[in-house]
Amino acid sequence: MTDPEMVFTVAAGAATDRGRRRQANEDGYLADAPVFLVADGMGGHVGGAAASGAVVAAFADSISGEWVTTGALDEAVASAARNVAALPASERSAPGSTVTGVGLAEQNGTPCWLVFNVGDSRTYRLSDGQLEQVTIDHSLVQQLLDHGAIDATEARSHDERNVITRALGAGMSTRPAVDQWLLVAEPGDRMLICSDGLHGELTDQLIAATLLTEPDPVAAAESLVAAAVEAGGRDNVTVIVVDAIDVVAVPHDPAVFDTEDSLDLDGPTVPRAMREPEPLAGSE
Ligand code: MG
Repeated sequence: MTDPEMVFTVAAGAATDRGRRRQANEDGYLADAPVFLVADGMGGHVGGAAASGAVVAAFADSISGEWVTTGALDEAVASAARNVAALPASERSAPGSTVTGVGLAEQNGTPCWLVFNVGDSRTYRLSDGQLEQVTIDHSLVQQLLDHGAIDATEARSHDERNVITRALGAGMSTRPAVDQWLLVAEPGDRMLICSDGLHGELTDQLIAATLLTEPDPVAAAESLVAAAVEAGGRDNVTVIVVDAIDVVAVPHDPAVFDTEDSLDLDGPTVPRAMREPEPLAGSE
């Protein structure tokens, strides 16, 4: 008799659109187990698309196997940052990109979502009918919110809502810190990964309503993108929906727990409520 094995299978759908105002689509995405990500490029039509494309290529090259580990994720982010930094800069700006998404992971025989983020694209989780934003934007507006300088309504219309404080490339660190969260996956979980072209146009309530009424992940992704374009389409919009289909945990015997496999739960996997606000840009 063989040992029972952990099971974690997902179904995913992705959609993207240039929107109504932009001349090119500078968003990129990768939706191929075990990693699902959205990258929002910036730096002019050519530079932006090249930057998000470089991020997608770096992840596709460096993540392999059945599960994503924090180490593999760190490597992929570092490789993506190097690739973006190597792109030619225009006179006005160096190309840059956000990246956020989710890796399928296992922790001691338990299926987990390994959520990651650099920038202001977002990953959400729909669980038991509740939509929760998992990632925290690296943006000026988020810093102002953290410091209580503005409220959520003011944030949506803030003049500088496009200013991001952490990115791959864009003249920032070549070894950017990537926020990571490890969440135990539950049957019925639905993860949403999106560029700001979605959450800049639609409220979380509207996003949740679509996710709750459209069971097919491909149709849900297409429906959200169409709704964002309909609502204004001021930016490129990209959506990935990942549904947990089969989730079976088979916890290891603690006596044979393999610390090599274990994920570091300190450091960046800090719940939002416990997090100290980042200092305001320019305040030091
Ligand atoms: Mg965008």
